[in-house]
Amino acid sequence: MVEIKTPEQIAKMREAGLVVAAVHAATREAAVPGATTKDLDDVARKVLAEHGAKSNFLGYGGFPATICTSVNDVVVHGIPDTTTVLQDGDIISIDAGAIVDGWHGDAAFTAFVGSGHAPELVELSRVTEESMWAGLAAVRKGNRLVDVSKAIEGYIRRQPRPSSGKYGIVEDYGGHGIGSEMHMDPHLLNYVDRRRGRGPRFVPGFCLAVEPMINLGTPKTHVLEDEWTVKTNDGGWSSHWEHTIAVTEEGPFVLTAVDGGRAKLAEYGVEIAPDPLG
Ligand code: MG
Repeated sequence: MVEIKTPEQIAKMREAGLVVAAVHAATREAAVPGATTKDLDDVARKVLAEHGAKSNFLGYGGFPATICTSVNDVVVHGIPDTTTVLQDGDIISIDAGAIVDGWHGDAAFTAFVGSGHAPELVELSRVTEESMWAGLAAVRKGNRLVDVSKAIEGYIRRQPRPSSGKYGIVEDYGGHGIGSEMHMDPHLLNYVDRRRGRGPRFVPGFCLAVEPMINLGTPKTHVLEDEWTVKTNDGGWSSHWEHTIAVTEEGPFVLTAVDGGRAKLAEYGVEIAPDPLG
């Protein structure tokens, strides 16, 4: 059921991953007070075009834009529009993808709009990002899918609780296999569900998008009438981080990180493979 990639295919996914990284850099810079989420979408579309890459979000299940822009209590799948004007103090999660020669990359980050954010929000994003790296560090030859879920949840549970209550690990959405399509088997939970099996074992050629979503408050979410926008049920703000990683003969490699994840994975004692593009 799991698509196993050749080194050549992983190199294509690296190309796509670098385009995603370029979209991240450009949209991060553009996420300033006064910008609309549509402005960010325009930036993303331009970067994809400059790289000759295609969008895997535009038209996906009818999705009407190039990136997802999820502001404050929006968890994921926010639709860029001209009426959502970013305000000083907002947080925004930007999810972007790219297709190069039929091979996909997918990654997301949370950015702070303006300045003066409450320490609790800074910590929310830090915990979410770091739980992603803990999960990525568990993607290696010999481990199984559940080891990633365990690493993500374990990291979050070990953190001090936010003053407003708790971290809600979103259960309605999760990570996924990726390659010739954006969303493929297996589905990756960001927590351990003991009723499920341990999942497939990682072998060279296995590629996975790891993407924890954490809410300040309840993990429960609902979808708005636009059939896309996912909000927290209690209005708590939310963070989302994501990277696409490949398992190779020579170790893991984070395809959507410019440095391949070298710096962050080293903190976990994980040495990455050489860049698939050489
Ligand atoms: Mg994804």
